[in-house]
Amino acid sequence: MARRAPDLSSRLQGFSTTIFAEMSALAEATRSVNLGQGFPDVDGPDEVKQWAVDAILAGHNQYPPGRGIPELRRAVAGHERRCYDLEYDPEEEVLVTSGATEAVAAALLALCEPGDEVVMLEPYYDSYAACTAMAGATRRVVPLRYPDWRLDPADLDAAITPRTRLVLVNSPHNPTGRVLGRDELEVVASRCVEHDLLAVTDEVYEHLVYEGEHVPLATLPGMRERTVTISSAGKTYALTGWKIGWACAPAPLLGAVRTAKQFLTYVSGAPFQHAIARALDDGDWHERVAATLRPRRDQLADGLEALGFEVARPQGGYFVTTDVGSLGFRDGAQFCAALPGRCGVVAIPSSVFYDDAEAGRTLVRWAFCKSEQVIDDALGRLSALTA
Ligand code: PMP
Ligand code: GLN
Repeated sequence: MARRAPDLSSRLQGFSTTIFAEMSALAEATRSVNLGQGFPDVDGPDEVKQWAVDAILAGHNQYPPGRGIPELRRAVAGHERRCYDLEYDPEEEVLVTSGATEAVAAALLALCEPGDEVVMLEPYYDSYAACTAMAGATRRVVPLRYPDWRLDPADLDAAITPRTRLVLVNSPHNPTGRVLGRDELEVVASRCVEHDLLAVTDEVYEHLVYEGEHVPLATLPGMRERTVTISSAGKTYALTGWKIGWACAPAPLLGAVRTAKQFLTYVSGAPFQHAIARALDDGDWHERVAATLRPRRDQLADGLEALGFEVARPQGGYFVTTDVGSLGFRDGAQFCAALPGRCGVVAIPSSVFYDDAEAGRTLVRWAFCKSEQVIDDALGRLSALTA
């Protein structure tokens, strides 16, 4: 007799698929232009790819150290020092992870007890909700409201309770593209200090800033000692499949995150670590990547506007948000489900990033980390919608 498949644990109810994988599969099945999942269709620098090949041929193919290879930990510490004047000890305060995804998971599993509350910005990246649930914790959301996406201090105060353990901040932000201002981050910092909260920051889009300035929360007074700062090579080097990320934090916090990482993936891709260490040390790509993406942001935002969409132009990241209500559509999820059939384009309904479905009902997220031709093709197809 066949064994009954085990049910999902109650903590994982509602997390059985990711919208990104689902929408990419739909794009493939319908031969649509995929402006859904955020991955570039042009790889990052050839020289960085060559360094990974070199590392494989040089024999860096067995388990690397669990903390990450020393060269990459030193390179990450050097990057934090040069870019933000933040000092981390590469031995005890830097951990290499399998992308930012693992760093977020390990941080939440390591730092939260069942029953704790995690405060996060809404809309939120999907893995934050799933990992908070896996840790047995509860999410409390602070709304960022379309189209300005500003953080209202009163909303943050309302989300903090005696059970709050940590605040999870993502800036530049997915899906909105908002780069939080120093004033907003100062509010977050003041509440963390006042209530003695930990902070976890997801800064994967740190170098993809088109307007404004990326301010790491850890640089604000009182924050370095209570913050786990997370980033990744995926977005900076347009190599999202390599899955090399990192976390920086004071030794006691980092030690806890390392303990969790140890039993999630144990170690992360050896040859890629060598290539990214060289890229962070020798390359200047991180200073150029925003300049390559800004024209694509403008191309997509201008094109959607010309078609009649109401567009919130992002300050950073990979995505433009539109309110499809302006074109008479009442539901973004229905709009996105019908879009491949109507004109061969895939986008993501922003409602999947909300607890409050009403708040995001007519919002749709479009990825612009694509080539000029692909964006042109998508805009041409979309013109059928409004013709
Ligand atoms: N955080 C955010 C906000 C993201 O948008 C993404 C990926 N798109 C990740 C984390 C995952 O990063 P990685 O691929 O390095 O795991
Ligand atoms: N973060 C990317 C996005 O927002 C996708 C990564 C993933 O598929 N998990 O589209």
